[in-house]
Amino acid sequence: MAKTILITGGSRGIGRATAILAGQRGWSVGVNYAGNAAAAEQVVKAVQTAGGKAIAIKGDVSLEADVIAVFDAVEKVFGKLDGFVNNAGVLDRKQPFLDYSLERMKRIFDINVLGAYLCAREAARRMAKSRGGKGGSIVNVSSVAARLGAPDEYVDYAGSKGAIDSMTLGLAKELGPEGIRVNAVRPGLIETDIHASGGQPDRAARLGAMTPLGRPGSAQETAEAIIWLLDDAASYVSGALLDISGGR
Ligand code: NAP
Repeated sequence: MAKTILITGGSRGIGRATAILAGQRGWSVGVNYAGNAAAAEQVVKAVQTAGGKAIAIKGDVSLEADVIAVFDAVEKVFGKLDGFVNNAGVLDRKQPFLDYSLERMKRIFDINVLGAYLCAREAARRMAKSRGGKGGSIVNVSSVAARLGAPDEYVDYAGSKGAIDSMTLGLAKELGPEGIRVNAVRPGLIETDIHASGGQPDRAARLGAMTPLGRPGSAQETAEAIIWLLDDAASYVSGALLDISGGR
């Protein structure tokens, strides 16, 4: 069945690949982005070429007013949501913990934790059967960093993803009676721009070679799991934390 979904951080990387796969299924996709309008418009075109519908919607997930406006925009154009991908997330530079600034940690927790919670709440309010929604599926994009800790690199980022895992476990229980399934994917080393934003553009290739499967993963391989969790094929899956990490 064709679905209406919203993806935060849909302009690049894992979000972009998920949007295009959804387009291949004929789904309608809200492509949220923070600032990169050209990239978001390119994703919209790619979704349409693949056979779906899409709109690009600018908004910062850490700002409540933006979050509400983004959800309003997608429902105004495509109708009630069936699925939500809580994907937007950021890293900071690789740095010893001893040198972390307050600003660094606030940015990571504002976007990755507060932003993800605000977005999940907004998705739940719109999908909850008790609020007139039709139920649905939320997929949170966590990271294997949640269990590895990212020492000497980004322990703040790792902690932000630990919060995503806890949110997933709690919301799966709280929102099940509302007809909403809640799951997380935990990618490992995936080739996207995020590693360059942490000052290590070669990180996925370098460390990916040391994983059991001997290579980094792709955004497409991650998106396949996200789409499965959104789809009815996963209709009895809720509260799962699915590692996509090549065995790492
Ligand atoms: P990416 O290529 O760096 O893309 C980040 C996306 O998030 C972009 O679309 C960006 O929009 C958007 N974004 C950033 N800040 C935002 C904000 N405040 N509000 C709304 N959108 C925002 O990242 P990625 O690698 O695809 O990562 C996607 C998710 O996967 C993240 O949650 C990340 O932590 C997680 N993850 C990635 C890996 C990996 O190896 N790549 C591993 C584990 C987990 P603009 O284009 O407008 O900047």
